Amino acid sequence: MADSDLFIDIVAPNGQRYKQPRGLFINNEFVRSSEGKTIASIDPGTDTEIASVYAASTEDVDTAVKAAQKALKDPSWKLLPGTDRGRLMSRLADLIEEKKELFATIDAWDNGKPYQVALNEDLPEAIGTIRYYSGWADKTFGQTISTTHAKFAYTLRQPIGVVGQIIPWNYPLSMAAWKLGPALACGNTVVIKAAEQTPLSILVLGTLIAEAGFPPGVVNIINGYGKEAGAALVAHPLVDKIAFTGSTVTAREIMKLAAGTLKNITLETGGKSPLLVFPDADIEQAVKWSHFGIFSNQGQICTATSRILVHEQIFDKFVDQLKAAIKTTSKIGSQWEESTFQGPQVTRAQYERVLSYIESGISEGATIAAGGSPVSSSLSDAHKDGYFINPTIFTNVKDSMRIYREEIFGPVVVVVAFASEEEAIQRANDTTYGLGAAVFTRDLERAHRVAAEIEAGMVWVNSSQDCDPRIPFGGVKQSGIGRELGEAGLEAYTQTKAVHVNMGTKL
Ligand code: ADP
Repeated sequence: MADSDLFIDIVAPNGQRYKQPRGLFINNEFVRSSEGKTIASIDPGTDTEIASVYAASTEDVDTAVKAAQKALKDPSWKLLPGTDRGRLMSRLADLIEEKKELFATIDAWDNGKPYQVALNEDLPEAIGTIRYYSGWADKTFGQTISTTHAKFAYTLRQPIGVVGQIIPWNYPLSMAAWKLGPALACGNTVVIKAAEQTPLSILVLGTLIAEAGFPPGVVNIINGYGKEAGAALVAHPLVDKIAFTGSTVTAREIMKLAAGTLKNITLETGGKSPLLVFPDADIEQAVKWSHFGIFSNQGQICTATSRILVHEQIFDKFVDQLKAAIKTTSKIGSQWEESTFQGPQVTRAQYERVLSYIESGISEGATIAAGGSPVSSSLSDAHKDGYFINPTIFTNVKDSMRIYREEIFGPVVVVVAFASEEEAIQRANDTTYGLGAAVFTRDLERAHRVAAEIEAGMVWVNSSQDCDPRIPFGGVKQSGIGRELGEAGLEAYTQTKAVHVNMGTKL
């Protein structure tokens, strides 16, 4: 299998050596793409190429889907007891944990996130999610339902079948874990497509899928372009379900395409999540979480609390403290520096997109209270072409402005003032999105009242961005359909079959 074209020897900037697979992972083997097309992965910190990997064509997608379809019927997977399936999954979690430094290295390099963040946040999340769902593998069953003496019924919870999963680039490995965990726990087979911006770590995951002992074809991993490989997966007639995380615009395309074969879909899309600070809040805590809620992961978080609504009495104080938090906390620079809080944006395209939003804020008349420009002077020579943007705060923002309404997906936040709880809720809900929301108050009743009123899939009280494999995650309105994580995440990957049993001949 060690073919020089399918594996390359890599030495990462932190000295980590490893063999990077380059192929499409189908039937537990790496293969070239049929048309030989490749994707180059770029280090966003230095604007240099790391490696190129094979990109799936429509024909390759078909091959991967057929492998998953065959594996679904293969007794080695179909008849595998849930307990044994769980054991395979927990072995996979252990193998990822053994290689956690390697995965953190690859994701930091490929995505631009600080290595320490990848190691201490992304990796525990990915490992924890697979481990959590390994426990569910033998705990998803149906019910018996009593009707009359002559009849009874029961339900079977069965896998949906072949699942196509399409993931984004902001958390490459943990997004794969969120998708694979529940799908495998429920006995499905999978074709998963990574984002073209971050194609590397998921291929290393492929080697561990084989090593853990999953039968060939159960998990197939492809890289490829969204409009080609992604669209081919969504349209494929043998794919029973699509699970997608990414932008709302792409989700609309996917929904349209999935209509052709009436596919079951779950979508986790964009957001413009509000963070409300009431006058009785612990302001230091509100500032700390506001900073984290928009500036961590370079602002590239679907749940980023990117609209901060602050009571007018404490508005000036809050803005001053948020600016101060940037100065003390937002150390910008190389992914490999231990003290780095913020690395580069993932790609040049994203970098330019974020800067164009900053331009639009300026031209619509908002005030830049902090940042508002690319980082220039503080970077080393090696990083001067990297995609670094200063954390940016806008004030004097009108609710009609693009920076207030649209998802920027970068380190840019708007801070606006409100006068009453009613106004705060009304303006927080004045959006097409509904992913996360945060409420800062010390008033217990207000905390729960506002949490209930906010149109969002998740609400954080006196916090922002909490996420746990045991707790459902997802959006309302145009932020998504369905839930991931927790017991709720299993719903997306099983279907219920009702069996009616006639106990006699009298009725
Ligand atoms: P972004 O705009 O941030 O790159 P996308 O939502 O476009 O985010 O991408 C998320 C994932 O969706 C990626 O894996 C991408 O390849 C895939 N994708 C993009 N366009 C399509 C499409 N038309 N059909 C299926 N998948 C797509």
